[in-house]
Amino acid sequence: EVDWFSLASILFLLMFAPLIVYYFVMSCDQYQCSLIDPLIDLLMGNKHLSDIWNKTPTLTYRAAGIYTLWIAFQVVLYVFIPDYCHKFLPGYVGGVQEGAVTPAGVVNKYEINGLQAWIITHVLWFANAYYFHFFSPTIIFDNWIPLLWCANILGYAVSTFAMMKGYFFPTNAKDCKITGNFFYDYMMGIEFNPRIGKWFDFKLFFNGRPGIVAWTLINLSYAAKQQELYGQVTNTMILVNVLQGIYVLDFFWNEAWYLKTIDICHDHFGWYLGWGDCVWLPYLYTLQGLYLVYHPVQLCTANAVGILMLGLLGYYIFRMTNHQKDLFRRTNGNCKIWGKKPEYIECSYMSADGTKYHSKLMTSGFWGWARHFNYTGDLMGSLAYCLTCGFEHILPYFYIVYMTILLTHRCVRDEHRCFSKYGKDWKRYTAAVPYRLIPGIF
Ligand code: NDP
Repeated sequence: EVDWFSLASILFLLMFAPLIVYYFVMSCDQYQCSLIDPLIDLLMGNKHLSDIWNKTPTLTYRAAGIYTLWIAFQVVLYVFIPDYCHKFLPGYVGGVQEGAVTPAGVVNKYEINGLQAWIITHVLWFANAYYFHFFSPTIIFDNWIPLLWCANILGYAVSTFAMMKGYFFPTNAKDCKITGNFFYDYMMGIEFNPRIGKWFDFKLFFNGRPGIVAWTLINLSYAAKQQELYGQVTNTMILVNVLQGIYVLDFFWNEAWYLKTIDICHDHFGWYLGWGDCVWLPYLYTLQGLYLVYHPVQLCTANAVGILMLGLLGYYIFRMTNHQKDLFRRTNGNCKIWGKKPEYIECSYMSADGTKYHSKLMTSGFWGWARHFNYTGDLMGSLAYCLTCGFEHILPYFYIVYMTILLTHRCVRDEHRCFSKYGKDWKRYTAAVPYRLIPGIF
């Protein structure tokens, strides 16, 4: 059943999320990244909505061509080029991997080749920038708003297709969730793991490829634009490229681990993931770089090093916490965490077909400090990206605000799900590890 609050939030997001993205990008394009000035202009009657709209670049054939080529190229890399990286990169887990057991008891196989796709894409990008010069490395920045329309078209098309597919030809009908509420089903998705053919998995492709591979390219395009406009790239732009680059590379290096995260294990594929991956992620996760094109901040060395340290510490906590859980789960607790055998709580749950399963919840390492310390590390890293932009405008801080809301909400959502899954065992766990994000505080 869909309660009124969920329905209201969903309607709000369906109506306003595309406008929020537009507003941010437009405010950079027309108001030097000020979020307040467009509102003042409108309220004071200096401008009408139509003035702003008329100044907004429209969809162009060039952008449509670039975007179509981009998506087609990523599909080719995903579907037709099996992973070779795991054959020569020690420690990298790629190639065919299994996902978690779905509620209907299915175990899907995935071709993990995201790192390879990322490397090929970036090698070609640099080859073009330094040798071939087929297109300018500022191409993404130069077509940013026309590309936004293309990303929206794909985001809506894929979400609508996913909904129809869920109703009429689902990949696995037993894993579908239909509430009967059109808006909820459209937003949160019907199918759990929609696929076309054996290998084209919607969740893995859309979550990782068009958005996250693009993330680092978008930042490189911003750096190229700074170079073009000011004849130099600021240390803050380098920091954003490096810190976010580490995060993106980490994602692809650990793509097999990603199969065990909430996105793949628990979320259904609807507008939230489909549109979110195509539009929200590439446009709003890259706001710091965009801001730095309009406001090239150069920090003193001490501040730049401080931000770098914060970002790296956040990344370390994020990675180690995720690694500890992954190691613990892979070895079924037969491993060492901080040099000792891990402590845990034994728990059990039932799948939809009534089969009983056993599981363990770790209570030592970072998982003994707080129930979602990985989110805490993620938030520290997010804050570091924002701090690179100084304190002149609030726009770059949208990311930390959004991540705090996203991860706190995710925390609550995940804990609600875990409680339904594990019942009293989950209560024993929360008694053993009482805090969610910050030990002693929350
Ligand atoms: P987690 O990796 O924290 O996974 C939560 C799941 O882990 C729970 O549902 C439960 O699943 C299991 N679990 C919970 N507690 C324990 C424990 N003590 N011991 C063992 N297993 C436990 O969450 P996410 O999948 O949301 O996040 C993965 C990473 O991705 C995080 O670091 C997060 O910061 C990041 N992230 C980044 C986003 C971004 O936009 N940048 C968005 C979302 C996430 P089970 O049912 O298996 O028991």
